[in-house]
Amino acid sequence: MRVMGIETSCDETAVAIVEAPAGTEPVGRILANVVYSQLTEHRRFGGVVPEIAARAHLERLDGLVRQALAEAGTDLADLDGIAATGGPGLIGGVMVGVMTAKALAFVHDKPFLAVNHLEGHALSVRLTETVAFPYLLLLVSGGHCQLLTVHGPGAFTRLGTTIDDAVGECFDKTAKLLDLGFPGGPAVERTAKGGDPKRFALPRPMWRKPGCDFSFSGLKTAVRQAAEKLPVDDAQAVADLCASFQRTVGDVLADRCANALALEPSPTLVVAGGVAANAYLRGRLEELATAHGATLVAPPIKLCTDNGAMIAWAGLERLRLGKQDTLDFRPRPRWPLDPIAA
Ligand code: ATP
Ligand code: MG
Ligand code: FE
Repeated sequence: MRVMGIETSCDETAVAIVEAPAGTEPVGRILANVVYSQLTEHRRFGGVVPEIAARAHLERLDGLVRQALAEAGTDLADLDGIAATGGPGLIGGVMVGVMTAKALAFVHDKPFLAVNHLEGHALSVRLTETVAFPYLLLLVSGGHCQLLTVHGPGAFTRLGTTIDDAVGECFDKTAKLLDLGFPGGPAVERTAKGGDPKRFALPRPMWRKPGCDFSFSGLKTAVRQAAEKLPVDDAQAVADLCASFQRTVGDVLADRCANALALEPSPTLVVAGGVAANAYLRGRLEELATAHGATLVAPPIKLCTDNGAMIAWAGLERLRLGKQDTLDFRPRPRWPLDPIAA
């Protein structure tokens, strides 16, 4: 089974083709995975501008579809389905991806799959490793911070969520305050390498409170206040603040995951989403999982941030369960994984 996945929900235009045997257990194979990051388009604004993103997707997408097909050595006729992110995300971009996938599916008479972007992140580990359902998932990305039980495609129970900001957003804000550039996550991680994680005592919202919810706005404010007091041109102080910030995030994530594992014991803790690319946080979560007799599984770094392979894979998982979407699917700017909790 071979599926193309198109991702256009934020600022990466991405197309991938993945393949898997017909059974349900074996992992998949990535035949092509091309990503165009719209960094230059948005850099001077210090963040993603929705209208510019939508236009950039429109300009690039056809070329990326052709490139992915060429890299995979396949053509549209050989595909079993065409998937696109159907939401949640910036609506203009989602529309570009959905319309393209629908058109290709219609013309080539293939099933169309509208994939929830968060489900793409949630199932991405299963593309490269055998991980059985159900599993506990920490989803940490630019717009989300949630703990969920993943029962299968389309079946999620939410245990907790952030009551204010997402973790990725907090990394991006920290980078901006410290002039480290955009996108912020990798910059903070790099800068933190030479820093003292104990120099700044920052607040750990929700730490040691019952439940699995998160909060990051207090931490964000504390980082801003600390940043304003930093001596000018003190690179060591900046590194120390990044390291302290990262350690605080690690404390909070580990504490919340410990509660989740106590509430819903699971042999596997999965971490996914852009922030899962962070090696320090992966290490902290690995320690935590081991202490609870569980194993941490994370996608390869390259599949943590937005990509087409995770969308193709989620589409493939749904297709092999006999599911597909109709061409009157409407892009969804909001689309919670667990509609009951949301
Ligand atoms: P969502 O998936 O919630 O819709 P998104 O798609 O914009 O949001 P992702 O692409 O999944 O987000 O992740 C991007 C986020 O991950 C950004 O906030 C970025 O700063 C963060 N990130 C990326 N790499 C790292 C890293 N090494 N350390 C920390 N954060 C990182
Ligand atoms: Mg992005
Ligand atoms: Fe994402």
